[in-house]
Amino acid sequence: MERVLKCVRCGKTYDVFSSKTRCDCGGLLEVSLQCTLSPNLKDEFLKRRMSLEPYNESGVWRYREFVLDIEPNSIVTLPEGRTNLYKKVVDGMEVYFKHEGENPTGSFKDRGMTVGVSVAKKLGFKITACASTGNTSASLASYSAHAGLKSVVFVPKGKVALGKLSQALAYGANVLEISGDFDYAMKLVQEASSEYKLYLLNSLNPLRLEGQKTIIINTLEELGWVVPDWIIVPGGNLGNTSAFGKALKELFEFKFIDKVPRLAVIQAEGASPFYRAFKSGFKEFEPMKAETIATAIRIGNPVNYEKAVKSIEFTQGVVESVSDLEILEAKRDIDNLGIGCEPSSASTLAGLRKLRKSGVIKSSDFVVMILTGNLLKDPDTSINLHTGNIKDVKSRSRFFEIETLKDLEDALKKIVLEGE
Ligand SMILES: *Cc1c(COP(=O)(O)O)cnc(C)c1O
Ligand SMILES: [Zn+2]
Repeated sequence: MERVLKCVRCGKTYDVFSSKTRCDCGGLLEVSLQCTLSPNLKDEFLKRRMSLEPYNESGVWRYREFVLDIEPNSIVTLPEGRTNLYKKVVDGMEVYFKHEGENPTGSFKDRGMTVGVSVAKKLGFKITACASTGNTSASLASYSAHAGLKSVVFVPKGKVALGKLSQALAYGANVLEISGDFDYAMKLVQEASSEYKLYLLNSLNPLRLEGQKTIIINTLEELGWVVPDWIIVPGGNLGNTSAFGKALKELFEFKFIDKVPRLAVIQAEGASPFYRAFKSGFKEFEPMKAETIATAIRIGNPVNYEKAVKSIEFTQGVVESVSDLEILEAKRDIDNLGIGCEPSSASTLAGLRKLRKSGVIKSSDFVVMILTGNLLKDPDTSINLHTGNIKDVKSRSRFFEIETLKDLEDALKKIVLEGE
């Protein structure tokens, strides 16, 4: 047996396929690798890119030694994890954007879901479940449909972006719209899955995080294993934060990399319990009532807190918070680059700007930002932002209503004059 589930609090171990999401003591579980992996695997990972086997084409299963041992015929893959890394100059600084919004359902959640739903199928579950601010539900619904399983998703009423809710419905999920916020939905789904035979697929599920580790592995591979100074990621339920720290620890211990990049986790000011805990040196952790336009990170009581603290400590990371206005300005700029992302993803650039201002990140630093979700997820915010409907954020896109030929002529003249 090469892997076990291990409690991060008391150290008790369980079978990796035990379908437990928490230890009997209440602590979080994580997968513990019981073997070492050789850096020679780097060549094998690259070679698999040439293969036409779906599980080699997948940017998750291509790195399966870091993910999970499971029979290829149990694997439910679309395949995911084949996302682009863009090099851009922003504010005079060269930076990279890893666009996880280019996954099959439009968010990084697919990298975890391929693992989670494969295991649900292997274990004989008929129904999968999650609480979600939107993207997890879209991903769960899609992968469950591919696997022939039913899905149940708990979503907070009125706080799920249009693109995400329409996906979950379209892929055939049973959608439970909860009167309450995400944190309440999260509590309800945990209770429901201990009462009914539902396979819980929030990032509380340690196997999902093993899939999300491949965001780091894939990015480093694309960089030729040259290690950046900083990796910047939004923080909501802190699943990625946890997975990234774990990935970096394993890559470092197995000598795939000889230095560890620092993680910078960015939260929205209105949903910043992790930032506040960081400011207290992680002595205090106080859940809060969350509010932000970045609905994917509108979370006041992140379930992965304990693991995320370890990630910040291991990588000598930092946690920053940014206002909704800063998020929207950053979204405007990422969108205008022709890349685009949803609001929560833009917190990365907003965070970079703030960390540069405070001198934590220097303009000569090598920085990678993880864009977690696709532009198309939240069309309402995009239209408001780019038609100038959001006070205090100046739009650089132009929107003209044309009723007469005179309007048309005026508009064209303006556009042409501005272009000169
Ligand atoms: C889920 C999600 C997040 C938050 O990630 P965590 O792992 O919960 O911290 C951020 N952005 C997008 C687009 C998401 O879907
Ligand atoms: Zn325990």
